[in-house]
Order: sequence, then structure tokens, then C-alpha cells
Amino acid sequence: MRIELPKDEMPRQWYNIIPDLPSPPAPPIHPGRMEPCTPDDLVDVFPMSLIEQDVSDKPWIDIPEPILDLYAQWRPTPLYRAVRWEQALGTPAKIYYKWEGVSPAGSHKPNTAVAQAYYNKQAGMKRIATETGAGQWGSALSYGCAMFGLGCTVYMVGVSYDQKPYRRLMMETWGATCYRSPNQRTQIGKRLLAERPDHPGSLGIAISEALEDAVPDPECRYSLGSVLNHVLLHQTINGLECKKQLAMVGDEPDVIIGCIGGGSNYAGHCFPFVPDKAAGKDIRFIAVEPQSCPSTTKGPYRYDFGDTAQTTPLLKMHTLGHDFVPPGIHAGGLRYHGMAPLVSQLIKEGIMESVAVPQTKCFESAVGFARAEGWIVAPETAHAVYVTEQEALKAKEEGVERVIMFNNSGHGYFDLAAYEAFLSGKLADYEYPVEEVQRALSVLPEVPEQ
Ligand SMILES: *Cc1c(COP(=O)(O)O)cnc(C)c1O
Repeated sequence: MRIELPKDEMPRQWYNIIPDLPSPPAPPIHPGRMEPCTPDDLVDVFPMSLIEQDVSDKPWIDIPEPILDLYAQWRPTPLYRAVRWEQALGTPAKIYYKWEGVSPAGSHKPNTAVAQAYYNKQAGMKRIATETGAGQWGSALSYGCAMFGLGCTVYMVGVSYDQKPYRRLMMETWGATCYRSPNQRTQIGKRLLAERPDHPGSLGIAISEALEDAVPDPECRYSLGSVLNHVLLHQTINGLECKKQLAMVGDEPDVIIGCIGGGSNYAGHCFPFVPDKAAGKDIRFIAVEPQSCPSTTKGPYRYDFGDTAQTTPLLKMHTLGHDFVPPGIHAGGLRYHGMAPLVSQLIKEGIMESVAVPQTKCFESAVGFARAEGWIVAPETAHAVYVTEQEALKAKEEGVERVIMFNNSGHGYFDLAAYEAFLSGKLADYEYPVEEVQRALSVLPEVPEQ
């Protein structure tokens, strides 16, 4: 059952959770001075408009008209009630999912990509440099840059570059240049390739390379597809639409589920519901991460670098250590050592739960979902599908008609090799790499109490 929000009902503001948090967010720390960053520290990295959004205390931020025009190409996105999947699972629960796979790049990521491209264009930039995991962010930003006539340079995590040529071809079709990371073009890339010529790369390494490329060029800025406050802000159009769509069918969610890599799709989906919980409504927020990269369930909540080369400001977050290299699971978008500070804080404060799950279970559920609902979801999204199924089966056991909603963050049409591995019985689970995490955590920076 498809719940369609009329075009003229599309939200015209983003929701900023910061003023609604129980305590102010921990400030980003300058790694040299060991003091909170000032906007000046970041002017070579991001346009000032985005730096201001990161620290804004305004609850609502107007979406500029050119961004609304681009959103209207695929938004509002549909909310579905998964009636056929409910029947297949035999659950009394009502399952809803928000479908972000209808965007040009096939995921939620264009919500922030077009916004970031717009603000960079406004700031007079000619080019944006970025990193990408499975290629979803690189393709989304390539699309955003194409819409505003900007150049785009993408460093793609090596293991995904090798496994997923189609995403690179999308980037190139939209006019971007895509490099395998680590790459000889950068100092950090040269160093890592000397140690290990077949280096699989990681998001942290690719971030370092993109920063090394962007910062010295006055007409180029860097862009991040997740983690930072302004990215999460841009994604909130998702949850705001869901609120209106649920109101159309007279339902309210009891459980809201999403997968977390850097945290942006889930934040955008659930943050608009957080004030309802604060106001006394009984809502469970469940964030789902992979067992092989369990930053929120196994990583401490403390200051760490966002990247491997230790160039970013220190962010207070759940982290497995900035030089942790996660195993090469198929959900490339979930292979990040840290977690968005705002998502980390909600978990720390007990407002949000998180759980780590193995990839084979996720694909099993994703295949069941595809056979009932038709949509073939991304490997990342499959993590949310699995936990939704678990919750639906729990509701069946308890015999309660619970309302469960999850964010269907993107399609898996370029991830069919992962489905092939699953369908032919070759997909394996990776153990949680205890020793590698212990080593990475032993070199975290010491930050004085703020
Ligand atoms: C990138 C991506 C994710 C993970 O990133 P978040 O910032 O945690 O949302 C999840 N799902 C899809 C489809 C993605 O492309």
C-alpha cells in the first residue's frame, strides 16, 4: 500500500535536532591546539554556510528554492505499508517503510548531495573533492555537482572500486573523476601503498585523500556524505515527510529502525520523531550496524579523528579507532570506524538503542522482503530489514499490533554480486575483529576534559 504525499505538501524546512537535545553537543576539537574548533579552522574545508548549519541553534532551517526544485525531481518519496511482507511473516504488526531508492542515484544520499553542491556553488567553488565507500555517495555527489555545473573528484575505497564498477561508471556519466583509494596521487596514499600494494582501503583513508586534494586548492572544497551535523540536517526531509504520511493513514510509530554507517539516513528518518519521545510518547529507536564494524555497540564514546591520516578535527563519537580497517563486507557504506556525533550522543544518553548483526542474516531477510514487496534493497538497508523482521516476529510472539517503521535507504541493483554470493551459499560472516580493534583503540588521541 503506497502512501503518496502531494507535491505541494513537501516540507520547505529542515529540522535541526540540536536545540532539542537534553545537553549541548560536545564541540569538535582542534587536534593541534586541543581546544574547540572555531569556524576559521574549517574555512578551507567547507563553505561557511555549511559550517554555520553545523552549529546552528535554530530548530528549523529554510531549504533554498533551487534545492527544493531539485528535490521535486523525486520527492516526496513514497511511504509504503508492507502488507504483503506482514502476511508472509504472519505478524499482527503494521510495517511501514520509507522508500529512498527512487532518487536519481538510488539512495537517500542525493538529499544532502544537491544541498552541498548548491552551497559550494554559492560560495564560488569550481570543484568538490570527496570519498566514497560502496560508491553511493560518490555517485550522489557526482549527480549533485552535475546539476550545479561543478567538477567532482571522488576517492573510492579500493575493495569497492574493484568489486563495483557500475557506480564508478555512474560517476563518470555525470562528469566526475573517480580514483581507487589509496592512490599514488596523495602522500597518504603513497605511504599506504608502499606498506601494502593491494591495500583494500577504508572510508577513513579515502577521507584523508580527498582532504589532501581539496584543502590546498582555493576553488575546491571537501564534502562528506554522512557523519557531520549539516549532513544529518539535510536528511531530515525524510522523517518530516514520514510524519505527514503517517498522519494521512492515522498511524503513529512505536518502533523506528534504520541502518547506520555514518548515521545520516537513519538520523534523517528518525530525528523528527525524537521530540515526541521527549514529550512522553513511547517510541523505540533502533539503529543497526554490522557485526564486523560495530562502532556503537563495541566502540567507546570518546574523541577521535574522522580519518586515518589524523587531519580532521576530533569528534566526540562512538569509535573503533581511526586506523581500524573493517573487513570487506558487502555493505560498503557501513564500513566506517566512527559514528555521527549526534547519533552517538543519543545512544549514549539512552534515547536510541543500537544492535550489531551478521550480514548473512541480513541477506536472508532482504531476499524474503524482495519476494513479498518486490524491492531489492541495498546491502546496507538489508541490515534494517533484518531487525525489522525480528521486531515483527517478536510482535507476533507477544500478539500485539505494533507499528514498526524502517528507512529503506536505497536499492541494490548494483549490488547483485552480493546477492549472488548469498544465493549460491558463498556469503560468509566475519567475526568481530577483537584484536584489530584493541590495537586501533590503543592509539586514540588523549583530549583534556572540555
Ligand atoms: C551510504 C548508505 C548507507 C549508510 O550511510 P549512513 O550515513 O549511515 O546513512 C545506508 N544505506 C544506503 C543505501 C547507503 O547508500
